[in-house]
Amino acid sequence: MLVGRFSFAQPCAFPTSNHSLLQPGSEDRFFVGTVGKPWATGQFGCVRTEGWQMHEGLDIKCLQRDAAGEPTDPVLATADGVVAYVSASPSLSNYGNYIVLRHQIDGLEVYSLYAHLKRIRDGLKPGQAVKSGEAIATMGRTTNTHEGISRARAHVHFELDLLVNEGFPRWYKNAFPTQRNDHGVWNGQNLLGVDPRLVLLEQHRLGTNFNLVNFVRNQVELCRVAVSATSFPWLKRYPRLIERNPIAEKEGVAGYEISLNYNGVPYRMIPRAGSELKTKSRFQLLSVNEAEYGRNPCRRLVTKRGGHWSLTRNGTNLLELLTY
Ligand SMILES: [Zn+2]
Repeated sequence: MLVGRFSFAQPCAFPTSNHSLLQPGSEDRFFVGTVGKPWATGQFGCVRTEGWQMHEGLDIKCLQRDAAGEPTDPVLATADGVVAYVSASPSLSNYGNYIVLRHQIDGLEVYSLYAHLKRIRDGLKPGQAVKSGEAIATMGRTTNTHEGISRARAHVHFELDLLVNEGFPRWYKNAFPTQRNDHGVWNGQNLLGVDPRLVLLEQHRLGTNFNLVNFVRNQVELCRVAVSATSFPWLKRYPRLIERNPIAEKEGVAGYEISLNYNGVPYRMIPRAGSELKTKSRFQLLSVNEAEYGRNPCRRLVTKRGGHWSLTRNGTNLLELLTY
């Protein structure tokens, strides 16, 4: 049997017709940097404010403009999926108009997000199925920030996310009673991004051998924490990230040991028996990968004071939301 190039579905396709990322040295034709900064600031990661500010997606350059210089690139679904959320009130978010799609890729529930859209396709509504490569919107430069996005910097902000907790609206109301949440579960704080650049490049390199679960499980560890919670949504949503532990299986699970990457993604959970957990506290920081913290500190999940590492308020908030 002939195995043609199109005989397998690509897990994630480019969200526009700009594919310059695949040509080494052409990154400046793919990424849009922040005002006055190089293209690298349009990547995912600790790329802003001298490495101390996280950018949780890719800012992808427009290729097509109308007579007025406005972007016209169609924005394309990255994979088969279902519309999860459509926000057509640009003044309510720095994302401007944005869309969230839900996908099952390699058995992993993953969400793609497309922001700063000019126009959302007519009639696009939560619950609708979309196909990989299907146009869902037109690129734009909507946002609610004071500075706005100039015509020259028009781009789509593209994220690949895991969903932390469907109880987010309740949790947020308790944790931040004076803050507004206009987007329910689809608040950016409830979506933890992985690097779409690495996903796109890795699957290009590995073809059918690419597997999103393996990709997520192979994140670099920033820190390891123990939590005493034994039942929380992440465990149910991402069972493929749970490792086996015969001792906990035999004695009963008293908590989980969790590896977090620098963006706070809990990418590996090990069930622990009571005899293995050294503490009864809700959260305990077990270890920190100092080299990784040195490279990617911007989420400020942990801090070192007086020679000792501890969880910051950000770190504790994340674990509270995770186990809520
Ligand atoms: Zn962006």
